[in-house]
Amino acid sequence: MSTHATYEFKAEIKQLLEILVHSLYTDREIFLRELVSNASDALDKLRITAAEATDEAPLEIRIEADKDKKTLAISDNGIGMTEAELVENIGTIAHSGSAAFLKAMKEAGNSADGIIGRFGVGFYSVYMVAQSVRILTRSHREGATPVEWISEGQGAYSIRELSGEEAQAVGRGTRIEISLKDDLAEQFTEADTLRHIIRKHSNFLSFPIIVDGERVNTVPALWREPKFQITKEQYKEFYSFLTYDLDEPMDTLHVSVDAPVQFNALCFIPKKSKDFMGFDREDWGLDLYVRRVLIQRQNKDLIPQYLMFARGVVDTEDLPLNISRETLQDNRLIRKINTTLTKQILSQLAKMAEDKDAYATFWREHSRVFKAGYMDFANREAFAALLRFNSSSCEAADELVSLDEYISRAKPDQKQVYFAFGPSREALKLNPHLELFRKKGVEVLYLYEPIDEFVMDALHTYKEFTLTPAELAKPDDLAKLPDVEQAPEEAAAAPEKDSLEALLVRFKDILGDGVADVRATSRLTGSPCCLVNPDGHTTSSMDKIMRAMNH
Ligand code: ADP
Ligand code: MG
Repeated sequence: MSTHATYEFKAEIKQLLEILVHSLYTDREIFLRELVSNASDALDKLRITAAEATDEAPLEIRIEADKDKKTLAISDNGIGMTEAELVENIGTIAHSGSAAFLKAMKEAGNSADGIIGRFGVGFYSVYMVAQSVRILTRSHREGATPVEWISEGQGAYSIRELSGEEAQAVGRGTRIEISLKDDLAEQFTEADTLRHIIRKHSNFLSFPIIVDGERVNTVPALWREPKFQITKEQYKEFYSFLTYDLDEPMDTLHVSVDAPVQFNALCFIPKKSKDFMGFDREDWGLDLYVRRVLIQRQNKDLIPQYLMFARGVVDTEDLPLNISRETLQDNRLIRKINTTLTKQILSQLAKMAEDKDAYATFWREHSRVFKAGYMDFANREAFAALLRFNSSSCEAADELVSLDEYISRAKPDQKQVYFAFGPSREALKLNPHLELFRKKGVEVLYLYEPIDEFVMDALHTYKEFTLTPAELAKPDDLAKLPDVEQAPEEAAAAPEKDSLEALLVRFKDILGDGVADVRATSRLTGSPCCLVNPDGHTTSSMDKIMRAMNH
């Protein structure tokens, strides 16, 4: 007993097919992602709903190409479909109103990727490459009759129940047979091309994907596995798969978050920083997966730019499979992942910082990028706590001090964290502005990079302390502190007030318009004089940067 019926596609499907036929060349390969994802879904559904009914055969996805016949087949031994399910699932647009769909199609122009998934019409992407498609499917239900569906994607499809020998040849699950368009047959029957596309989009699906009898997806989606089961070796392996770095990562962050948004993330901090400033400026971001299917490589909205040294993947269940790139860019969910992940990475770094040596390595490699975090106001406290500086209290040039350490040894009543900018430790040791600090034993942080001053300026305070440039310190704030260093002999005898006045007048005469004023000061102990900025709140180095930017 075999029934045969021909059905018309709904109007919106006809329009969709029209677009797909003319879709962008670069979009075409995603048909394979869609069909493989459907096969994987079907296997998942079988595993969940019919666990007892499964036979011994392993659950898998097979891809077979025939160059001569110009055909490609994708098979799964998953849940399958009855005739009613076929009509229901393939042939209508299930998830959204057709008005919204038509509007979106108009807007999409000839870029298919965006609409395909938004409306759950992934199956139809096959018509970007197919002349005609034949579906053979048998539901997992006891005694289900296998069904054949055929369409050239021109407006109609036919369905027929199979019987006898034909029926016996069809096992549980679904087989999609594609007759490829003539001009695409060569490309999409090439095993290497197929493997490449699968690795690119579907590498982490949990079921084996087999091309030419060989499994293609061999790296497990480690981010989805429970942490306690994963060995260090496995992390390292995954890390090198991801980054091509053969060294092990400096640190690993593996998180599973349920609220306010569901996601799994596996991030690594490499031991060596990349040249983000040069040619590889765009070479960063986290790979975004939706249920193990790659959506976008190097997505740059998942973490802020100052954490760009982090490499890894994020996988969420909360996004649709085929969300378009435009929609991703301003997506609430992605922003929430970003917020959560940023906090996680910062606290991971704080943990790393408990080991001074480990953190020094991190700092040496990644601080140049990290310092741009001074713009992240939402996390300023956590960010500031992770900053490190060389300082006047350090014995060596590579020793590092945190703001908390500085504060812990500040003088009683000291309410400022003092810093000075200079090209090197040697230069800063000779800086006359720091003489009084030495005399009073007040620590000064040494800033060697221009960005350091922007960081200090933007933060402005840290835990009740004002971040203050040493050269702008109020001498009175320091004067009241006791001396720790004996002033040099010759400086001990203060000059007569009258002769000092005469000297200042003479200075002003000679320097003329070159200076705004010449004043006596108590900030120097060894040097005879130093330059200060007349406005009293711009440091001389910042002044130089400003001038350079204006010219
Ligand atoms: P989506 O996957 O977003 O639902 P598709 O157009 O890709 O949209 O597929 C439509 C429906 O067809 C699926 O939801 C599923 O019910 C059914 N389907 C597609 N491929 C298979 C398959 N290999 N096995 C079982 N059902 C399938
Ligand atoms: Mg699908």
